[in-house]
Amino acid sequence: MIIKQAEFIKSATKPAQFTDPVFPEIAFAGRSNVGKSSLINTLVNRKNLVKTSSKPGCTQLINFFTINDEISFVDLPGYGYAKVSKTIRTQWAPMVDRYLSVRKNLMGVILLIDIRRDPGKEEFELMDWFAKRRIPFLTVLTKADKLSRTKQQKRLAILTKTLERRKEDLILFSSKTRQGREMVLGEIAALLPS
Ligand code: GDP
Repeated sequence: MIIKQAEFIKSATKPAQFTDPVFPEIAFAGRSNVGKSSLINTLVNRKNLVKTSSKPGCTQLINFFTINDEISFVDLPGYGYAKVSKTIRTQWAPMVDRYLSVRKNLMGVILLIDIRRDPGKEEFELMDWFAKRRIPFLTVLTKADKLSRTKQQKRLAILTKTLERRKEDLILFSSKTRQGREMVLGEIAALLPS
């Protein structure tokens, strides 16, 4: 997939504010600070389409982008940031669950996990929601550059087992070195209707 154009459309907190579901949609989910903004920016070749390292966890917004005037990318709010208020923390699950339940044009989700971290309850919860709704998802292991190639392979094997996935469903990624960019784009293209 070649990305020629990317545009921020709007932020939303509830379904009434979502964009019209005209394009096939791919959503991105992950813990705060996992590297989600950096990954989307790397995919679309833009430095700041998604704002990186704004105060993590303060914004509980669902952000909509249009790609090539034919695909929609959705940046789901990050989770798991300890310092946010309880209200913000308790808003996350219903907000994301509602998004997943109403979005008929959702073709798949990219679930980001820091390669150095073990998945937590939020990741398993998300995977349950995806399974329940039969939403295909791909797991991207971020910040791969923080580990040597040998250690990357070791973590890949461990996480494949922990997440009970097939090895080919996990992609090693780094926004610093751009490792895995083409593979993620290829997998996104495979999720879209032909
Ligand atoms: P988000 O909260 O998930 O959107 O995470 P960001 O994209 O804002 O990244 C959080 C922090 O991790 C920032 O300091 C980034 O520079 C850093 N970061 C993101 N991706 C990578 C990566 O692939 N490699 C390294 N070394 N750092 C990264």
